[in-house]
Amino acid sequence: MKFFQNLSIKNKLVVIVLTVTLSVIGLGFTVMVTMNINTFENDLLNSTKTTGDFLADACSMPLFLGQGYEREVTDEMDKLNIQATIENAVIYNNAGVEFARYERAGSPRLAPPELHKEGYKELKGNYLHLWRPIFLKNERVGTLYIRASRTILNEKINRYLKTMSISLLVLIFLAYILAVRAQGVISEPILNLARVTGDIKETGDYSVRVRKTGEDEIGVLYTGFNNMLEQIHLREKQRDEAEAEQRRLMAELADKNKELEQVVYVTSHDLRSPLVNIQGFSKELAYSVDELSALLQTQAEETPSRVKEKLALIIEGDIPDSLKFILSSTAKMDSLLSGLLKLSRVGHAAVSFANIDMNELISEIHNAFEFHLKEAGVVFKAANLPPCFGNDVELNQVFSNLLGNALKYLDRGRPGKISITAQRQHQREGDSVLYCVEDNGIGIAPEHQKKVFEIFHRLHPEDTQGEGLGLAIVHKIVSRHNGKVWVESEPGKGSRFHVSLPAARKLEPGSDGSDGANDFTLVGPDR
Ligand code: ADP
Repeated sequence: MKFFQNLSIKNKLVVIVLTVTLSVIGLGFTVMVTMNINTFENDLLNSTKTTGDFLADACSMPLFLGQGYEREVTDEMDKLNIQATIENAVIYNNAGVEFARYERAGSPRLAPPELHKEGYKELKGNYLHLWRPIFLKNERVGTLYIRASRTILNEKINRYLKTMSISLLVLIFLAYILAVRAQGVISEPILNLARVTGDIKETGDYSVRVRKTGEDEIGVLYTGFNNMLEQIHLREKQRDEAEAEQRRLMAELADKNKELEQVVYVTSHDLRSPLVNIQGFSKELAYSVDELSALLQTQAEETPSRVKEKLALIIEGDIPDSLKFILSSTAKMDSLLSGLLKLSRVGHAAVSFANIDMNELISEIHNAFEFHLKEAGVVFKAANLPPCFGNDVELNQVFSNLLGNALKYLDRGRPGKISITAQRQHQREGDSVLYCVEDNGIGIAPEHQKKVFEIFHRLHPEDTQGEGLGLAIVHKIVSRHNGKVWVESEPGKGSRFHVSLPAARKLEPGSDGSDGANDFTLVGPDR
């Protein structure tokens, strides 16, 4: 059955049509052949019987007259010669004694079988045996025995079977040809549908249509198929247009981003030189004011006291106060510009990516923070962390910023706790590791949880020092690693910063085993 199921539709139809046709033909032939062979056999019996009847009639009188009339009987019996099937015949008188006999020339001399009183036929092997009583005017005068050979009948049957077999073969062949031709009416439209489906699969061209040849069920199927193609084609078109638009917008966005980064870089870089000048000249101005003040001291007697008082107010009050504001503002601006420069530099230098041992990386960061952690009495715990795939310098920056913040924004009212944990994740886009830096610090209100990753967004600018850049840098680096970063937090309880990064890659068998085997470099404009 499995074999049949796996046959092509074409072959299935041929097999079905042939099976039905051959069963009918086979049955018809068997019935016909059996009936005809029976008829042939009956013909032999009937013709032998009829000949026997004629012979019995012709021989009844000489048999009745008895001895001396054998010659007449033998003459009658010799006429059996014209019936080729009869080979022997014997006539017995009423006493059961052989009266006359006929033997066909050339046929085997067989002894007549035991005499049967009543006439009956018996088919034994290759012969038909027939006994028949002989009557003369209703008085029995003897018995006739005839032996007819089946050889001619067998030859006839053989010839007949041969003819029928050839006819059968011709019919089978014709049925096959017809089946092969007829199956096309059903299979061809289905195969055509399969061909079109295959073409579409290969070319991805949904604009093609199948041509209907009739209004039968296959015609309905074709209409449905064409409607489906129409729909897919329309959706494909819409999707292509949307994708093209998306690509265009992405490219535009990338250009704008690049432009913006360039502006940020150029401004933050170039604004520093006038700032240095302002700082320098402010200092110069401070020296000049000091010199002026000293000069005033030496020329105190020659200067009228009204002018001296007015100058003292300017030289010791207004100018130093203004200079103090200028210097503190330039220092603030300098720190903002250097932060901006740092942020715009992320992602512009060529960095190499490799499998990173995160236990080692966190241990290095912990060493760097050890003094501050101890000083703040913080309990720090790091679980066994799975490796990830990235750049060690940039990831060091990410986790240093997160750990630094966790330490910076602890709640002074309770002992601090910071931990780093991780779990592997299997996703459709690829395996990743989700790291979590958790603290029991002051927490972040829900409305600020997304904004803290924006540049310069600070929640408590007066309480702690900072530029509002740390998390923006974390976000930029993690995005560059095709990862994600987000925060879950409850004010007054603490925060959990989640960082998802691509899992470490498996080393190809036969590689030298070093992480370098999987290194690749992400290139950006080198500065
Ligand atoms: P900075 O620390 O220099 O202010 P960040 O970008 O690192 O800049 O952080 C932005 C703001 O997010 C911080 O000013 C702070 O208000 C908040 N923040 C960051 N980390 C935490 C934390 N672990 N707990 C509470 N608040 C945090």
